[in-house]
Amino acid sequence: MQQEQVQRIINKARQECGSHGMRLTDKRGKVLEVLLQSDAPLSAYDVIDEYKQKFTESLSAMSVYRMLDFLLQNNLVHKLETTNQYLACSHITCEHEHEIPQFLICDQCHTVKELGLRKSLIKELKTSIEKTGFALSGQQLELRGLCQQCQGGVKN
Ligand SMILES: [Zn+2]
Ligand SMILES: [Zn+2]
Ligand SMILES: [Zn+2]
Repeated sequence: MQQEQVQRIINKARQECGSHGMRLTDKRGKVLEVLLQSDAPLSAYDVIDEYKQKFTESLSAMSVYRMLDFLLQNNLVHKLETTNQYLACSHITCEHEHEIPQFLICDQCHTVKELGLRKSLIKELKTSIEKTGFALSGQQLELRGLCQQCQGGVKN
């Protein structure tokens, strides 16, 4: 992603946070920047490494987790529960309401596509799962496969 675009997204995120009485501090913005510039999702420790390389500053694990939590709560970042990795939301500059995010994870290049599914579809899925007596702890789907590029650029 180009630096210009990254800055635009961060500015928008800062503005959004401000309108909710939250503050996207310089450091939180930089953590978001690290995630925006990564093609693949990152673990908290990857974030620390990238941050250090980019901004020549070391962060403690605790402060990174705190900043990631802030970003998660504000829907600027999502967490993949299956891998404990983080990725920037792809809808930060969108005006529409954020949907329950679903993720398509490529097994080969590890890129992740965020997909919003219709609420009715999620509800239907949830209902049929709950009919089995299973209690869901979350509604996030993480599906694995091959992205279009890794399939050899086959167009649909
Ligand atoms: Zn999102
Ligand atoms: Zn969007
Ligand atoms: Zn791929």
